[in-house]
Amino acid sequence: MHAHPELGHQEYRTATRVADCLGRSGYQVHTGIGGAGLVGRLDNGEGPTVLLRADMDALPVREDTGLPFASTVTAEDASGRRVPVAHACGHDMHVACLVGAARLMSAAQEQWQGTLLVLFQPAEEPGDGADRMLEDGLVGRVPSPDVAFAQHVLPHPAGRVGTRAGSFLSSADTMKIVVHGRGAHGSAPQAAVDPVVMASMLVVRLQTIVSRELAATQPAVLTVGSVQAGTSANVIPDSAELLVNVRTYDDATRRTVLAAVRRIVKAECEASGAPQAAEFDEGTHFPPTVNDEAVTHEISAAFTDVFGERAEVSQLQSASEDFSRIPDAFGIPYTYWALGCIDPATYSAAQRHGTVAQDIPVNHSPHFAPVLQPTLDTGVRALVTAALTRLG
Ligand code: ZN
Ligand code: ZN
Repeated sequence: MHAHPELGHQEYRTATRVADCLGRSGYQVHTGIGGAGLVGRLDNGEGPTVLLRADMDALPVREDTGLPFASTVTAEDASGRRVPVAHACGHDMHVACLVGAARLMSAAQEQWQGTLLVLFQPAEEPGDGADRMLEDGLVGRVPSPDVAFAQHVLPHPAGRVGTRAGSFLSSADTMKIVVHGRGAHGSAPQAAVDPVVMASMLVVRLQTIVSRELAATQPAVLTVGSVQAGTSANVIPDSAELLVNVRTYDDATRRTVLAAVRRIVKAECEASGAPQAAEFDEGTHFPPTVNDEAVTHEISAAFTDVFGERAEVSQLQSASEDFSRIPDAFGIPYTYWALGCIDPATYSAAQRHGTVAQDIPVNHSPHFAPVLQPTLDTGVRALVTAALTRLG
């Protein structure tokens, strides 16, 4: 799985392998839901219905882990560019864990009752994989579940699982902003309205939204991830483009930050005497992940029974997911948890030296390499444990 990563919306090889495994374990398999998405269904008598979800897609990253099974794959991305592809977010681990859990549940049908749905979602990274499955009629194609669960590998010690009730992952918004100036010769700034200066002011000024407009208790992240303008030292260009990424944990903060971005951009254009208003293009939006209180307390208690001290209460994460769109569409509660994946000895050495941030590669890094064990066993047990809280 790791050596054969596929970009979002291209996960057909992965889906075929998964469908084959599920079919051999007695699941009724619904393939081709929203592209490569699929659901395996195992009916086992009267009882509740539980949905377990894994995402399948990889990233346009050149893997540099040194693993013997490292990816050397390239593929064409959505814009037709050939890019390196790697499982730099660990979704291969999610797929492997869910296939493992599905097989165990199938082999132990005398120990539970109800219906198990295992859902393999395409295109989590571009943010529209869950939506594509929903638009393709997911809700009508499978029985409505009572509860949903999902997990994600994070750079914590392998063998540990962590969750929290309430807010867990941030929402994420991206915005493309184009500011318009007036181009001129580099020697004649008096003839220009310089969009490079406007963009530079904005990069700094936008940072004051989080630091000056939000309370210290109101977490948010604003990153200007891209600034593009001009082609030459002696030409003042016509326009500049900024890509802004905003992470928040509740809708009121989200609206405050997005409105402040627009206010500051408009004011900067006016201050500079821009001949034309700025353009705003809202891109991908990931919803926040908010774990149901009651279900999450139940899951935390079950994890403590199974994992003891290795079950933790997680911190808020400034990462984002589209998983919650699926339970939200069914109108059901969910719990999402973090699965540790870093060699525990490596992690504790970095902790002793105070160098966790420098030494431990994070998701999306070319060096991110979850250790196979105990990550795989822990992820399988976590999924089975969660399913059995309802079905067992
Ligand atoms: Zn990711
Ligand atoms: Zn991911």
